[in-house]
Amino acid sequence: MGETFIPLADLRYAADLPRVPEALTAPTGLLSDRLGRPLRDLRISVTDRCNFRCSYCMPKELFDRDYRFLPHSSLLSFEEITRVARLFVAHGVVKLRLTGGEPLLRKGLEVLIAQLAALRTPEGAPLDITLTTNGSVLARKAQALRDAGLKRVTVSLDGLDDAVFRRMNDVDFPVADVLAGIDAALRVGLAPVKVNMVVKRGTNDDQILPLARHVRTHYGPQVVLRFIEYMDVGSSNGWRMDEVLPSAEVLQRLDQAFGLEPLAAAAAGETAARWRYRDGRGEIGVISSVTQAFCSDCNRARLSTEGKLFLCLFASRGHDLRALLRGRTPDGQAWSDAQIAAAIGLVWAEREDRYSELRGALQAEPGSGERRVEMHYIGG
Ligand code: SAM
Ligand code: SF4
Ligand code: SF4
Repeated sequence: MGETFIPLADLRYAADLPRVPEALTAPTGLLSDRLGRPLRDLRISVTDRCNFRCSYCMPKELFDRDYRFLPHSSLLSFEEITRVARLFVAHGVVKLRLTGGEPLLRKGLEVLIAQLAALRTPEGAPLDITLTTNGSVLARKAQALRDAGLKRVTVSLDGLDDAVFRRMNDVDFPVADVLAGIDAALRVGLAPVKVNMVVKRGTNDDQILPLARHVRTHYGPQVVLRFIEYMDVGSSNGWRMDEVLPSAEVLQRLDQAFGLEPLAAAAAGETAARWRYRDGRGEIGVISSVTQAFCSDCNRARLSTEGKLFLCLFASRGHDLRALLRGRTPDGQAWSDAQIAAAIGLVWAEREDRYSELRGALQAEPGSGERRVEMHYIGG
């Protein structure tokens, strides 16, 4: 039986129908927003589901058995995702990151990766395709992902101690399985592996040094450990500033224990500030989204699971690309690639988001009434 109702889930975040200009100009790859920022990085959420319940992202109390995830028909198909990605590439995107929810829960993800790996920039270069995962099923899937064309992988890991890690994921998942996932990724050549640790003061900050020591000793430069400041994304994690451990403190602890020196940024728009161990045992990064905003060169767009384009991690309104992908022009035709590309170009050209730079001022203001998008829906 077909669906005859609009699933509630589809109404969870506001989205505008993108405007399609009458006069179509071909993408030049030189698009920039109102603050002069180019479009280089597209993050694609392939599912809103996850097998973990990290308290800072999908707290168990809210994402329980009664929570209604998106029905499969709402999700963009692999063909729709690839079509959108191709249009973004024409506008200058060179890096794609698959995320979620937990992206490895999306069935047949290798098929999507193979489709994306076949895309080329206007200059004919392949794209940098990566994926962020909680690592729970990575040991089983690493080889197939690599064979499909994945280049690199980022694994989230919030502690080395098994008890702390089980508490962080809140589903009693053992740390050993994630470590096995990292090993498998390295074995099949998805190197260097980035490992992301979200630090919550008083909850897992005692894991900073043990995890750093483990990575230095076991992997050296093959694994880059990055510490992320706990962010006020969405509206369900009960974020408090006093639970944020500033990156400056993380660096101080690491420097004291192992000795650090700064490294230059590898690419413009990079989120992490890079440091290396003075003894040559690899590098680390800190992502200071709260204490040191990096909006001024933010070149990232985000495509939600159901095809809404978000211009900022902290946005409450998206732009409904799926409506163009599945809808019809006023005279009954399917929207063409040229029309959808032009609509994307207009949306980016009007972008002026810079939430982290304005965080303090915005928090002092009364809310607009619209809910901010949740991390598991938009991807990290
Ligand atoms: N499930 C996958 C994972 O955990 O890697 C991919 C999606 S997850 C939303 C992407 C990244 O966002 C993860 O590294 C996660 O730790 C991070 N994240 C989620 N909520 C966060 C928050 N409130 N503050 C900082 N980072 C957060
Ligand atoms: Fe799942 Fe990733 Fe969110 Fe944790 S951070 S609940 S693993 S989506
Ligand atoms: Fe980019 Fe928004 Fe984060 Fe600033 S707050 S860096 S604009 S995603």
